[in-house]
Amino acid sequence: MKYTSTRDNKKSVSSAFAIAHGISDEGGLFLPESIPQLSLDDFKLLCGMKYVERAAFILKKYLTDFSVDEIDYCVKGAYTGSFDDDNPAPLAVLGDKTQVLELWHGPTCAFKDLALQLLPYLMVTASKKQCDNKKIVILVATSGDTGKAALEGFCDVENTKIIVFYPSEGVSPMQKLQMTSQKGDNVRVFGIKGNFDDAQTGVKKVFTDESIKEKLSDMGYEFSSANSINWGRLAPQIVYYISAFCDLMNQGKDLSGGFNVVVPTGNFGNILAAYYAKAMGAPIKKLICASNKNNVLTDFINSGVYNRNRDFYSTISPSMDILISSNLERMLYLFSEGNAEYVSSLQKSLSEKGVFEINDDMKQKFKTVFYGGCCDDNETINTIREYYSEYGYLCDTHTAVALSVYKKYVEETGDDTLTVIASTASPYKFSKSVLSAISDNIPDGEFEAVEALKEKTNVSVPKPIEALRNAKVRFSDVIEKDGLENAVISSL
Ligand SMILES: *Cc1c(COP(=O)(O)O)cnc(C)c1O
Repeated sequence: MKYTSTRDNKKSVSSAFAIAHGISDEGGLFLPESIPQLSLDDFKLLCGMKYVERAAFILKKYLTDFSVDEIDYCVKGAYTGSFDDDNPAPLAVLGDKTQVLELWHGPTCAFKDLALQLLPYLMVTASKKQCDNKKIVILVATSGDTGKAALEGFCDVENTKIIVFYPSEGVSPMQKLQMTSQKGDNVRVFGIKGNFDDAQTGVKKVFTDESIKEKLSDMGYEFSSANSINWGRLAPQIVYYISAFCDLMNQGKDLSGGFNVVVPTGNFGNILAAYYAKAMGAPIKKLICASNKNNVLTDFINSGVYNRNRDFYSTISPSMDILISSNLERMLYLFSEGNAEYVSSLQKSLSEKGVFEINDDMKQKFKTVFYGGCCDDNETINTIREYYSEYGYLCDTHTAVALSVYKKYVEETGDDTLTVIASTASPYKFSKSVLSAISDNIPDGEFEAVEALKEKTNVSVPKPIEALRNAKVRFSDVIEKDGLENAVISSL
């Protein structure tokens, strides 16, 4: 399996190259030249496997330049002992028609762990294959959860350094504390005076700046990315959608009409992974793309016009406060049948004018495969309250966005197909907001809110959150949004 670039389809590189480098030189994103297909027999085999085996089976189809032993070593390392459940992606059943795919049982309590526990293994293995003996510097822009998950994954990993940039006022207090208290000798964390898009644009700029690259190379370093622009982030995410399908089969569900998947979406990585699962053969009927008040994707799916020239809102689902969804570029490439020139022109228009419009054929494809919807903070809070009172199920603010949009989808379409909701974070990462949905008494302190939420609901607090109680802040730097280059150089 070779990988090409969304902006230059003559590129042809190995998966090890794509993962070690993160992004293509001309700014495009790597993706596999074709999508491997799973047969009925494959699915039968998968149904009889545990999560780790399913992961190895699926990754082997994408990472064909990795040996079987290497992949086994990587997935076992990633998924053994680091999740609080035997299955890192269990389903919670809410009635006949809805199941919640809980993706937050890992060390940082967000779905990013599923990919970021594995990525360091893949990257170190890939880098050894490249034989260039360079140390890897991972640059991360985060809207809150990627940063911590990447820090945890790369903490003290040999021959790597990791530098994280987060919007200093745009993450939850728990997310901030998770990052600023990170242990490890190879880690650095910076707040920036700006939002996630500023952080992401800044990081992309550093990646493609030739003079910085040269400086780095002289020092024996090269850059890579732990954001979902790296294929090594996306491939592990395909696994849990296929795994969820197998789990539904094993429950004896009738899936002849397929099942829907709802994904609370920001950078379009998680939902893109669901699209790959569908394209590989999992019978996913509709992919429901849920946004908060930053509803650029909802408008795009409905109109074919992507327009980031709009107000940016800070919401109670901060990990989705994004106006430039990087991974949409891969979807544009797939739906244009690999027309890299066309994708480049759209991306150029986006960076120069902040807007692009796709052609009618592509509009049709987006509408057929996806449904786009959004909700505001009030609806998010109301949804948390409703699901708690109806099912005794406590969800976080991002998952609530998904549930709220799902409700609109059912009202609008009458489609009552079995539906899987991707649940992307533990409610305890956003304790105050979640508590406000079910209580009038909101204490000031973050850990007092955790305590109150636990007392009220009896839902146990994840160990990694407990462990933060006495954490010491190590990183308190806040920099200007054009100061990323200096921060990188001074960190090395
Ligand atoms: C990152 C994140 C999202 C958005 O996922 P994308 O892959 O960027 O679309 C949603 N919810 C939570 C909790 C997240 O951390």
